[in-house]
Amino acid sequence: MNTIGFIGCGKMAQAMIAGIIQSSFVPHDSILVSAKTDSTCKLVHNAYKVPYTLENRKVAQFADILILAVKPHLYASVLDEIKLDRKKDAIVVTIAAGIDLEFMYTYLGEEAKIIRSMPNTPSLVGEGMTVFCHSKQVTKEEMKFIKSLFSSFGSVQVMEEKLMDYIPAISGSSPAYVYMLIEAMGDGGVRSGIPRDTAYKLAAQAVLGAAKMVLETGKHPGRLKDEVCTPGGATIEAVAALEEHKFRGTILSAMEACNQKNREMK
Ligand code: NAD
Repeated sequence: MNTIGFIGCGKMAQAMIAGIIQSSFVPHDSILVSAKTDSTCKLVHNAYKVPYTLENRKVAQFADILILAVKPHLYASVLDEIKLDRKKDAIVVTIAAGIDLEFMYTYLGEEAKIIRSMPNTPSLVGEGMTVFCHSKQVTKEEMKFIKSLFSSFGSVQVMEEKLMDYIPAISGSSPAYVYMLIEAMGDGGVRSGIPRDTAYKLAAQAVLGAAKMVLETGKHPGRLKDEVCTPGGATIEAVAALEEHKFRGTILSAMEACNQKNREMK
C-alpha cells in the first residue's frame, strides 16, 4: 500500500496533495493524478511535482489507494470508466458529500474496500479535518494506513456511517463560515482604523487561538467564553449584541441549510 491516485485534482485534491507532500508521507512519484484538462494537470504538477495523466484508467491501474476527487454528480460516470481497471485490493476513497457506501457497492460490489470520507481544505496547511467510515472489507492494518494518510494533512475522526451525511455542515463546508467571521472581524477592525492586513491577522489568530483553547484545554466553549467576559465589561456587551442578532441560531440555521442541500443532492 504505497501508491496514491487522485482522479480529479481541483481544490480539495490539491489541499490533500499539499499536505501529503509537505509531510513527506510518500515520495512525489508514488502519487499519480488525473483531471479533465491538461492545464489543471500541469498546474498541479508544477506546484507539487507529482506525475499526471489525462486517463483516469491509468490512475486506477496505478493506485493502491484510489481517491475519487471529482464532484458528486460525476462519480457514476467515473466509476463506470475505471471499475474494471482498479487493482484487486485497491482501497477506493470517496470524498464527496452524499456518496454513501451503498452507492459505491452498486458499482464496485459489496466486497470492495471503500473509505467514505469528508476532508476539508485547511488540509492545504496541514490543519485539515477528515472524518471517515469504511466498508467491512477494510482490514485493521489498512485502517491504520488510511488514518496515517489522513493524519499527514490534519486531524482524523472515525464516524459511523449514519452520521456521515451531517459531516459536511460541521466540517467540510464550515471553513467558509469561519472565513466570513474573520472577514467581518477584519471589517470591524478597519472601521476602527486598524490597517486591513493587520486586522485580518488579529482576527485569524483569535480564531486559531480560540480553537486551540477548545481542543487543548478540553473546557466547554461556554466556559471559555465566560472566562473572557469580565462582569460589567465590554466583552459581555459584544456577546449580548451577538445574542440579540441570533448569532448562534444563525449558525444552526446555516448548518441545517447545508444538511438540507446535501439531502437534495443525494
Ligand atoms: P473542483 O471543481 O475544484 O475539482 C474537481 C476536479 O475534477 C477538477 O480537477 C476537474 O478537472 C476534475 N474533473 C472533472 N471531470 C473529471 C473527469 N471526468 N475525470 C477526471 N477528473 C475530472 O472541486 P473540489 O472543490 O475539489 O471538489 C471535489 C470533491 O471534493 C467534491 O466531490 C466535493 O464534494 C469534495 N469536497 C470538497 C471540499 C471543498 O472544500 N472544496 C470539501 C470536502 C469535500
